[in-house]
Amino acid sequence: MKKRIVALGAAESGVGAAVLASKKGFDVFVSDMGKIKPHYTEMLDRYGIAWEEGRHTEDLILNADEIVKSPGIPDNAPMVQKIKERGIPIISEIEFAGRYTNAKMICITGSNGKTTTTSLIYHIFKAAGYNVGLAGNIGRSLALQVAEENYDYYVIELSSFQLDNMYEFRANIAVLLNITPDHLDRYDYNMQNYIDAKMRILQNQKEEDAFVYWNDDPVIQKELKKYGIKAKMCPFSIIKKEGMIGYIADGQYVLEYPTPFNMEQESLALNGKHNMYNSLAAGITADLAGIKNEVIRQSLSDFQGVEHRLEKVARVKGVDYINDSKATNVDACWYALESMTSPTVLIIGGKDKGNDYREIEELVKKKCRALVFLGADNAKLHQFFDGFGIPIADTHSMKDCVEACYRFAKPGDTVLLSPCCASFDLFKSMEDRGEQFKSFVSSL
Ligand code: ADP
Repeated sequence: MKKRIVALGAAESGVGAAVLASKKGFDVFVSDMGKIKPHYTEMLDRYGIAWEEGRHTEDLILNADEIVKSPGIPDNAPMVQKIKERGIPIISEIEFAGRYTNAKMICITGSNGKTTTTSLIYHIFKAAGYNVGLAGNIGRSLALQVAEENYDYYVIELSSFQLDNMYEFRANIAVLLNITPDHLDRYDYNMQNYIDAKMRILQNQKEEDAFVYWNDDPVIQKELKKYGIKAKMCPFSIIKKEGMIGYIADGQYVLEYPTPFNMEQESLALNGKHNMYNSLAAGITADLAGIKNEVIRQSLSDFQGVEHRLEKVARVKGVDYINDSKATNVDACWYALESMTSPTVLIIGGKDKGNDYREIEELVKKKCRALVFLGADNAKLHQFFDGFGIPIADTHSMKDCVEACYRFAKPGDTVLLSPCCASFDLFKSMEDRGEQFKSFVSSL
C-alpha cells in the first residue's frame, strides 16, 4: 500500500511538500484550518492532490504515515496534540525535501539577520554563476524547488520553527548569526527551549561540513561547550582575535580561510554593525564554497539590500527616511539605532511580545531627537519613555505618524521606522507597515 503523507497547513511549505510527495508517488492529503489562497488550491488541483480548507478532518489526517507540519502551526494546536498522541511522526517541509536532493545545503539561522544574510549569500552565489536556489522562509519552498528544479546548491533561511521538526537533515554549511530572546510564546516561555531549537542546525553535520557562527554571542559560546562538533569551526567577530576566520581590522574586512581575502570596510554595501556580522557570515560562506575573491568583493559591494530592513526610502527637505519595519524585536531596533549617525526621530510601537525596553534606553537617550509611538495601545511605551525628557507624539495610524515625524525632524536628521514590535495591531503584516510608511513618506 502507498504511504500516506498529510500536509498540515496549506501555504508555501505545505503545498510544496504535497507537490513533492505526490511526484514521489505518495498518497497525499492537504488540510488547512483557514482558507487556502487560490494560487495554492490551483496548484494542488493541477497535481491532482486532495485537500480541505476551514477544517481538519480527523479521519483523513490520523491515518497518515507521516505529517508535514507548517512552521506556523504551534505544537499546542489540538490537531497536533492528537497526532502526537497517535505517535505519528511530524516533520518539517525542509526535512521532507532534504530526503530527495543531493544538492549542497547552505542553511542560515539566528534570531536576527537571517533574511539579509541568506539574500546576500544567494546574491554572491548567483554572481559566481552557481546553479543555486533560494529557499526556506524566503521565496519558493525547498520542497517545490526539489520537485521542479535541479539545483546544485540551496541557500536556505531556517526559523526555529522549521528547525523544531528537523531530524536527519544535514547542513553542509550551517550559519548561526546570534541567539537573543524571540518567539518565547512558542517555547513555553523557556529561553533554553528556543536555544535548543536554534542549535539543531548543527545536528548531523560531518567533518567535511562547516559551522559559521558569531563568536561574540554569549549564548552561542555557552552552548558550544555542550556539543562535540565535528564540522570545521568558522567563527567570526567584529575584532581581530585568535582563531577568527573573519573579522574587521584597521578599516579592512578580512577573511582568513580557506582563501585569504580582504577589502575596504567602506566598500561594503550594507551599513551598520549588525550588517558587518551579516557580511562576514556571507563572505566566509562564499569563500568556503570556493567562490573567487573578485566575485565576493564585487557582490559584497553591489548588494542592493532587502526591502524593509534598514531600507533607505527618501530624503525629504534634508531628512532621511529609513524603513526598518522588519525590526519586530528590541534587539533588531538596538542595531538599527546603533547604526544611526545623525539625530533620529524613532518610530516604535505595535504588538508587544513582552519587550524589555531597557535594552535600548541608552541609545534612545543618546541618539533620539523625538519618539513617535505607533500602536493601537501605546500605554506601555508612555510608561517607559515619558520620563526621558524627549519630545513624544502618540499616533495610531501611519498617516498621523509620518506627519508627526515630519514636524519633529530638522534638516540633517533621520526618521527611522524600527518599531521593536509586531505589526498586527494596526497592519496586515510588517510588509504592509513598511509599504504604508514608504507611501506616506513619498507623498510628503
Ligand atoms: P530575520 O530574517 O532573522 O528576521 P532580517 O535580515 O530580516 O532578519 O533583519 C531583521 C531585523 O534585524 C532588521 O530590522 C535588521 O536591521 C536587524 N538585523 C539584521 N541583522 C542583524 C544582526 N546580525 N543582529 C541583530 N540585528 C540584525
